[in-house]
Amino acid sequence: MPGEFALIDRIRARVRARPDVVLGIGDDAALLSVPAGQQLVVTSDTLVAGVHFPTDTAPADIGWKSLAVNLSDLAAMAATPAWCTLALTLPEAEDAWLDAFLDGFFELADEHDVSLVGGDTTHGPLSITITAHGFVPEGQALRRDGARPGDEVWVTGTLGDAAGALQQWRARGPASAKLRYRLDRPTPRLAVGLALRGLATAGIDLSDGLAADLGHVLAASGLGARIDLGRLPTSRTLADHFDEAARWPLQLGGGDDYELCFTAPASAAFAIEQALAGCGVGASVIGQLEATPGLRFTTPEGADYTPPSAGFQHFQGVH
Ligand code: ADP
Ligand code: MG
Repeated sequence: MPGEFALIDRIRARVRARPDVVLGIGDDAALLSVPAGQQLVVTSDTLVAGVHFPTDTAPADIGWKSLAVNLSDLAAMAATPAWCTLALTLPEAEDAWLDAFLDGFFELADEHDVSLVGGDTTHGPLSITITAHGFVPEGQALRRDGARPGDEVWVTGTLGDAAGALQQWRARGPASAKLRYRLDRPTPRLAVGLALRGLATAGIDLSDGLAADLGHVLAASGLGARIDLGRLPTSRTLADHFDEAARWPLQLGGGDDYELCFTAPASAAFAIEQALAGCGVGASVIGQLEATPGLRFTTPEGADYTPPSAGFQHFQGVH
């Protein structure tokens, strides 16, 4: 694209080096050193304007979120992040937009010592693809397929805030700034992922909604689960804006929370609480795994509940 090299220079000027980056931006490819005894964990996610974030999202928030969703995948694998690449497709080469995007991007990158080591810059409708790399000691990754019958199901933080924001945005009515912040600035739970090494049996990050994402763990582990709706962690803000009947579909079917969902035997509960004490976010038990496949929900009154939708549908869009 015109001005591609000026844009790359602008990006490169803000990169913080790490000693394991032998060669970063500027050659045909990056040259990186993986520490001995560690496995390389690699993940990639694309954000398309109007599909993965509302078109009115601030550029700094887009920069933050496009990295956050990738770091969230590393967190869900119990990995320590190290590097990333950034493929940017931009409708125009605009310095002010890029600088604001980089403000959000590098705020999160620097917080977690993630070094940008390369990428690609092209012309077209706004879209951001980030590939993130991290490390995990051999055999210690948190996978989807290790859950066992009887394990408890945990989630970090609160559920449904981002989906609440999206619903308010779509309705073009009154909107909570707190909920919108949770949609635009998700926090990757990296410290939690690390703390769960050796304690959790399986884990996943909640990008598409609890029902869909926990469903992946159940499918990978060949199990079912019963979730107690009365134990879903709920922010005061979400409760202020949505009653139970309106809230549960958001908490079960809404995406974009980027909390972690993990499983562990009940005997590990105290150790988990202790391990998470310094992680900046709480975690709650919301249900239990069962041998019978399928995901079942119980209301606080003890009745069965069927959620109206099963997670974020791609190409439905947030235009
Ligand atoms: P090539 O044509 O060899 O693929 P490019 O001209 O696309 O190289 O890129 C030159 C250098 O700038 C490479 O090191 C590449 O990784 C880096 N780069 C390009 N775009 C970006 C970007 N958006 N963010 C970070 N690095 C980038
Ligand atoms: Mg290129």
